[in-house]
Amino acid sequence: MRQKIAAGNWKMFKTRQESIEFMEELTKHNIPGDVKCIIAPPYLYLNELTNLAKGHERIHLSAQNCHEAKDGAYTGEISAPMLKSIGVPYVIIGHSERREQHCETHEMLKDKVLAALENDLKPIFCCGEPLEVRKSKEHIAHVTEQLTNSLKGLSDSQMSNLVVAYEPIWAIGTGLTASPAEAQEMHKAIREHLRDLFNDEIAEAMPILYGGSVKPSNAKELFSNADVDGGLVGGASLDAKSFSEIINAF
Ligand code: PEP
Repeated sequence: MRQKIAAGNWKMFKTRQESIEFMEELTKHNIPGDVKCIIAPPYLYLNELTNLAKGHERIHLSAQNCHEAKDGAYTGEISAPMLKSIGVPYVIIGHSERREQHCETHEMLKDKVLAALENDLKPIFCCGEPLEVRKSKEHIAHVTEQLTNSLKGLSDSQMSNLVVAYEPIWAIGTGLTASPAEAQEMHKAIREHLRDLFNDEIAEAMPILYGGSVKPSNAKELFSNADVDGGLVGGASLDAKSFSEIINAF
């Protein structure tokens, strides 16, 4: 049985008070025993939300990014050892907004994955194709190449601490969603690629999340696919009620 995961990426949304109110509501929600819930707030709130979530074993915190260096003259950046020092267990790496807006390359992302793993953080590694690539039917090659370029060479024990999130860029924040069949096709291809790059055990155990306009109204249909192990949710994770509905969609 693979781990089911409902992850929320808040991006640059919410004030401190709003983040506290969300966590107070989420901790009241009865999260099913087989679901892991991961919240990725802005860095500023990680410490406080970690404390609020204490004792709620199914709620975990994640950073939205980390720098690849352990320290240095990088104004405005946050390192993996810093995240480790406040007890954050997860970090999103390679979100398409970071790849596009911050010019993150495959090599940088590989270094970030390694920095995270060296500091006992579990990377949620994002991949996904832009619309023109999907239209030209190169989407599977595009995504498998992203995985090869940033993950090839990791050990089995490193890979066993990773989560993959497939996020078609054309579906992020657009209201467009991959159909359940499109999501399943890609997730299956990702799993097969992990089998080729690594082995059966890594491929079978890897949680592969779908991201791209997941909402309470479409989560059940998406999560019911054989290779879709949950969701990485942006907009709909900002509201505790809609995120709770997504948690209940498994
Ligand atoms: C995301 O940013 O990871 C995301 C999937 O956003 P949304 O759910 O808003 O499309």
